[in-house]
Amino acid sequence: MKTADPELMRAINRFHVIDVVRREGPIARVGIAERTELSPATISAITGALIEQGVLNVLHVDPPEGPTRGRPRIMLDLNASAYHVVGVKLAAHRIGVAVTGFRGDPLGSLVLPVRLARQSPEVIADLVEDGVRQCLADAGLAMEAISGVGVGLPGVIDAVAGVSHWSPILGASPVPFARFLEARTGVRTLIENDANLATLAEHWFGHGRGFADFAVVTVENTIGMGLLVDGRLYRGAHGIGAEFGHVKIDPSGPLCRCGQRGCLDAYASDAGIVREARAAGCLEGNGTPDTHQLIGKLTERALAGEEKLAAIFRRAGEMLGIGVANVVNMLNPPRIIVSGEGLRAGELITGPLLEALDRNVLPVLREATEIVFHPWGDEMWARGAASIVLRQIYEAPWSNDAA
Ligand SMILES: [Zn+2]
Repeated sequence: MKTADPELMRAINRFHVIDVVRREGPIARVGIAERTELSPATISAITGALIEQGVLNVLHVDPPEGPTRGRPRIMLDLNASAYHVVGVKLAAHRIGVAVTGFRGDPLGSLVLPVRLARQSPEVIADLVEDGVRQCLADAGLAMEAISGVGVGLPGVIDAVAGVSHWSPILGASPVPFARFLEARTGVRTLIENDANLATLAEHWFGHGRGFADFAVVTVENTIGMGLLVDGRLYRGAHGIGAEFGHVKIDPSGPLCRCGQRGCLDAYASDAGIVREARAAGCLEGNGTPDTHQLIGKLTERALAGEEKLAAIFRRAGEMLGIGVANVVNMLNPPRIIVSGEGLRAGELITGPLLEALDRNVLPVLREATEIVFHPWGDEMWARGAASIVLRQIYEAPWSNDAA
């Protein structure tokens, strides 16, 4: 750890000031000082530079009416149009795109319903470029106005190198997908495992605000988990996110997409539920291979009371509960956020999940961990992808050239 590096200290202080204004603005300088515990002189220097750079706006707010009425107070707020960023979510059957301002507020979004399976990474990069250009055109923004693109996708992703090592979308060979996109758009691009991205987004503007330690379990076409430890994303030994979907629930269980047996993913992901439904004779013929369409219909039928199907969803919920119980037993985070489209089945999933959780953790640990369900839509995912770029801008060194 470097010490007494003034540039680094200024960058860290700048990040904390911007972050406090983002979370609590409009806010007066004295309020920033209270929350950051920085000296008034430091706050003045940092906010003065940020105002000059156009990152912060100055607002003059009239004090409340009354006998002690004084001068207007000077409040600071983020300049929402200081930067624009794009977030992209890649899923097996669609591409979600959102463009946001500096606060992460969406200015426009779209979903391209395209099936990405069996497309080459180059073709997928072309499709993402089309989606980004369309989304920007709809929002009336030029590519040159964009400071960065963030992309979330399932799989084993090296966010630092911008390489997908294994992904149900980009395949099992390493793909430098960030470079592919940069070559097409000319804009700096970050890629990140989608569960990690959900974790950062929950920390920023969701149910993880104010928590230094929490986990996010994402239930989608794949099962993922992100883990925040001491306010930082835990990435493991190789800069890689946790692949929670491949935690083993039953060594003699069904074959998973990864080639191993009994993974949580094989029971509780969309693909796992579809496979179970087919094995139980609930799907006639070979039908459409589109898991996304199938899972929507299966969910409707289960919710409408088709018992054989409802049992498959309840079992998926139970397996998820065992997986979450393992997280509680190992890590005991104060909060676990369960999110994703898989929650569309509602009580059918969440009921058995909570029951299995209660059965499989020590009561003393169970009491200390709060479970929050947070169903996410495509826009939230894309906004989360945008927020990883925003976060990097916030962390940029002390300079005018933050982009
Ligand atoms: Zn697996």
